[in-house]
Amino acid sequence: MNEQDLDFPCPICSTTGQVKMITHIDEIPYFGEHTQLTLMCNACGWTQTDFIPAEGKKAGGWTLIIDDPSKLRARVVRSSSCTVSIPELDLQVNPGSSSTGYVSNVEGVMIRFQEIIAMVQRDVMAQLEEGSEEEGLLEEQFQTLVNLSLRLHSLSEEGANPLTLELLDPHGHSMILHEDAVERPLSEKELAKLPVGPDPAVFSTDEMNDSA
Ligand SMILES: [Zn+2]
Repeated sequence: MNEQDLDFPCPICSTTGQVKMITHIDEIPYFGEHTQLTLMCNACGWTQTDFIPAEGKKAGGWTLIIDDPSKLRARVVRSSSCTVSIPELDLQVNPGSSSTGYVSNVEGVMIRFQEIIAMVQRDVMAQLEEGSEEEGLLEEQFQTLVNLSLRLHSLSEEGANPLTLELLDPHGHSMILHEDAVERPLSEKELAKLPVGPDPAVFSTDEMNDSA
């Protein structure tokens, strides 16, 4: 493990001299050697974790059709530059300023989606309680959210309607570890559209790969 103070301002609170970087090399089962890189700000508590494979990777998209509960156990490595989506449900999580990498499994990714849906549900609920002229619209939204949540929940049952988990990562640091998972290169058009999240100059993962 290696700890280093960085001389650039925190991307969240702009305080300089409080950001430090912790790196350590780790072996992720079936995924190989990785540098786990964590940036953290002592001033505001912001942290961002990333996983950088020892071998250079190309920008890539990964998909896995979840048509069996056993696939919920497939491991997922998601880097902070990765967009995660479920195209059938129009659900998408983009890398944002609070985006962080994680190693989980498909079920863990679904739980993250459920948490986001629950958050939006609470918001719609609060608006309904306050009373709104758009009550009908809000009730419709609420029902849509309930349906999304049920669809995600049903994946743990045999014979549920399949859903697709898709990872799109311009840095190529994300992947789904399952024999049925499909990897493909990203097109120029996709790359132009994809957000990559916060990437301070000193923390260019591509440069780190080149010098590795
Ligand atoms: Zn900060």
